[in-house]
Amino acid sequence: MGDSRHVSVVGAGTMGAGIAQVFAQAGFEVTLIDVNEKLLQQGVAGIEKSLDRLVSRDKIDSAARTDTLGRIRSETAVSATAGTQVVVEAISENAELKSRVWKEISDVVEDSTILASNTSSISITALATAVSAPERFIGMHFMNPVPVMKLVEVIRGLETNDETTRKTLELCRTLDKTPVEVNDYPGFVANRILMPMINEAVFALMEGVATREAIDEVMKLGMAHPMGPLTLADLIGLDVCLDIMEVLHRDLGDSKYRPCPLLRKVVAAGRLGRKTGRGFYEYGN
Ligand code: NAD
Repeated sequence: MGDSRHVSVVGAGTMGAGIAQVFAQAGFEVTLIDVNEKLLQQGVAGIEKSLDRLVSRDKIDSAARTDTLGRIRSETAVSATAGTQVVVEAISENAELKSRVWKEISDVVEDSTILASNTSSISITALATAVSAPERFIGMHFMNPVPVMKLVEVIRGLETNDETTRKTLELCRTLDKTPVEVNDYPGFVANRILMPMINEAVFALMEGVATREAIDEVMKLGMAHPMGPLTLADLIGLDVCLDIMEVLHRDLGDSKYRPCPLLRKVVAAGRLGRKTGRGFYEYGN
């Protein structure tokens, strides 16, 4: 029997590192997995920085910081998921890659392990076909930055059973997160609503309805959004926004989800938002 307080997180990037951090802060032993030592070190360095910020703001003390880091172990083989009671996968958003990695995980874990993917847009029902127990497969869609954002969208695939759903909802609460249960449809709820809003803001910009600043200001002041849709799109990454619109358009088959030509154009130009220094806005280094 594995230890139910022992989880593995596969992928030590932006999301995986954040997910590992919140599990470790909640007292779980965490095995963090990525393809090489360098990426693991980067992931852990990110966690250290995040914990340092919490210490400097008096949210945790330095003993808690040390204990949290002491609960995270790094591994480079997916087989290190063996013996853990929950596997959260947060590897790159590529359906073939995810299916391949999930098959490997499925071969080594025990019969009671919860199999959770943090995918933003790939069908949970489709990914579940890669594992031998699709009834234990579920979506755990954390928001970025994971240590800050309260929501976890919990996505039931077609085969996900009640027990897996119940355990996953409970697990989120143990992490001091607020889970919201949704069914598996393209974009789930968060991106089904957010991305068309961003896409519509880009249409408004393209059609000259208003300037980028004016569009953002209207949504900020008028709708009490913390940031405007174009600023948010730059933060998320315009390539990511385009990819998700493509998924909505293809999988829902409705022209109302067609990606805005201006969104395609800026992505084609390599203006991907903050991460490349330029998107709808310009950023310094
Ligand atoms: P990222 O590129 O920062 O990290 C992905 C990590 O996965 C990389 O470190 C990569 O080396 C690792 N990886 C790739 N193949 C692997 C393998 N075979 N075994 C182990 N590790 C492997 O990406 P991210 O932004 O953290 O996104 C990860 C997942 O979370 C994606 O499915 C994405 O859609 C989802 N997501 C992202 C956000 C966000 O805002 N970034 C929000 C919610 C969900």
